[in-house]
Amino acid sequence: MKLIDNWKQAWKLKSVQVGALSAFFYALILFSEQFLNIWNVIPQELKNKIPENIAEWGGLFIGVATVLARLKKQPELHDVNKFVTITAGHSNSDPGAVNGKYKEAELVRQFRNAVTHYLREAGLQVKTDGTGTKNDPLSAAVKLIQGSSVAVEFHMNAAASKQANGIETIALPKDKKLAQDLSKAVADGLGGRLRGDNGWIDQSKSARGRLAYVNAGGLIVELGFISNEAELAAFQVRYWLAAKAVAKVLIEYENRN
Ligand SMILES: [Zn+2]
Repeated sequence: MKLIDNWKQAWKLKSVQVGALSAFFYALILFSEQFLNIWNVIPQELKNKIPENIAEWGGLFIGVATVLARLKKQPELHDVNKFVTITAGHSNSDPGAVNGKYKEAELVRQFRNAVTHYLREAGLQVKTDGTGTKNDPLSAAVKLIQGSSVAVEFHMNAAASKQANGIETIALPKDKKLAQDLSKAVADGLGGRLRGDNGWIDQSKSARGRLAYVNAGGLIVELGFISNEAELAAFQVRYWLAAKAVAKVLIEYENRN
C-alpha cells in the first residue's frame, strides 16, 4: 500500500473525504458479514468451552483479519480518487506559437484529446483543461495538478531557425525517468529526435526559467517544433500514434507497484 505524497492536501478535498468515508462503511459492511460467516461455522460445543470474553475477542480478531485480507485483495478500493491530469498549453485566447495557419494551442489540444481518449479507454480517471476545442488558460490547468498522481501538459517549440528540431520534456529532477519515457514515446511516434538529457530538460536549465506548471509538480512535453516544416507535417499525420505511445507510458506509470 502506498500513499500519495501530498496526502495532507489531498485530504482537504471533499472527494477524498467522501471516498474515505465510503471505504470506512464498506469495511464495516465487510466486517459484519465476515464475522458472522466465521462465527457461524465454529461448532457450538467449542464456543461453550471458551471463556466468554476470550471468545468475543477471538471473534473480533478473526473479523478484523478477514477484513484486512479482503481489502488487500482489492487494490482498486485505494484508487477510487486517483486521477491523471492532461492539459494543453496556451488557451482559446492565446494561440502560442504560430506557423502560417497552424496554431500551437490548437495542435496541442488535439494531442490532449487523443491522449485522454486512450487513457480513459484504459479505465483511468482523467482531468483535462477542456474537451473538444476548449482549451482553458494556464491558471486553470495548474489548479488541476493538485491531487493528481501525474500531470502532463503539451506544447510545441518554436525557433527563428527553421532547422531547430526535436522533442523534450521539462520536469523536476524527481520526474527525470518519466520525462525521458514521455519524450521517447513522442519521438518514436512522430519519428523525431530527443533533445536535452535523453529527452529530459531540468527545469532549472530551461531557457524559459521556472515554469508555474512544473513548479506545481507537472511535466511539460514539447512535441517538436511548429516552426520546423518537417516536424509540423509529421505531427499532423502521426499525432495519434504518438498520443497512443504517450498514453501507454502514463498507464504503465499509473500501474507501477
Ligand atoms: Zn507553448
